[in-house]
Amino acid sequence: MLWLFTREIGKVQAVAKGVRKPRSRKAGHLEPFTRVELQLAHGRDLLIVTQAEAKDTYQRLREDLVRVGYASYTIELLDRFTYEEGENMGLYRLLSETLSRINKETDPAFAVRYYEIRLLDLVGFRPQLVHCVNCGEEIRAEDQFFSFEKGGVICPKCGAKEAGVRPVSMPALRILRHFQRSNYAEAQRARLSSAVDRELENLMGNYLTYLLERGLNTPAFLRRVRRTAETGDS
Ligand SMILES: [Zn+2]
Repeated sequence: MLWLFTREIGKVQAVAKGVRKPRSRKAGHLEPFTRVELQLAHGRDLLIVTQAEAKDTYQRLREDLVRVGYASYTIELLDRFTYEEGENMGLYRLLSETLSRINKETDPAFAVRYYEIRLLDLVGFRPQLVHCVNCGEEIRAEDQFFSFEKGGVICPKCGAKEAGVRPVSMPALRILRHFQRSNYAEAQRARLSSAVDRELENLMGNYLTYLLERGLNTPAFLRRVRRTAETGDS
């Protein structure tokens, strides 16, 4: 059984028979994180994969555990935020472009921070980053708060009185706003410092978990492999 995210029919489940046999012509073409051309047939209850040919195997992504961690996180988010509800070209494009960026860019974290904010848009949780979600005042260039419950930024005046809000620094908010309104080429004009990256990873990770009402599995794995890569331990 496989979960597929397809261009034509969105998220679907399908059966691939004989894929574990070494001589199967489908073997090797149906690995995780692969963009693949498929032929599907309608079985009695389920779709059946009748032919598979890998188009993008994202080789570097497979050879580097940190990249595997980022790709797993990307897929987990997509899986948790989507249902079998038919074609969604925006999500398909975002996913395939993000996997390709994680594969080839020097700093895959940049692509993943961009993915989080675009994914929220596409699944209907676009955060409000321009006006305070409490009083409606325009957000000024200073440190702010973020409300998971209200889905956006809260000004310092309201934030001081509001329970359960998280601080968000001005540099981090600037990146979120920039990513929210930019295509990827424009987004790349910004520099993401490692401090802001970690702040956003934390904030967005907690916000996504809040929206999903259940913890994600991949962030712990990602933190572990990244620590190993940084310290050189095995
Ligand atoms: Zn306010």
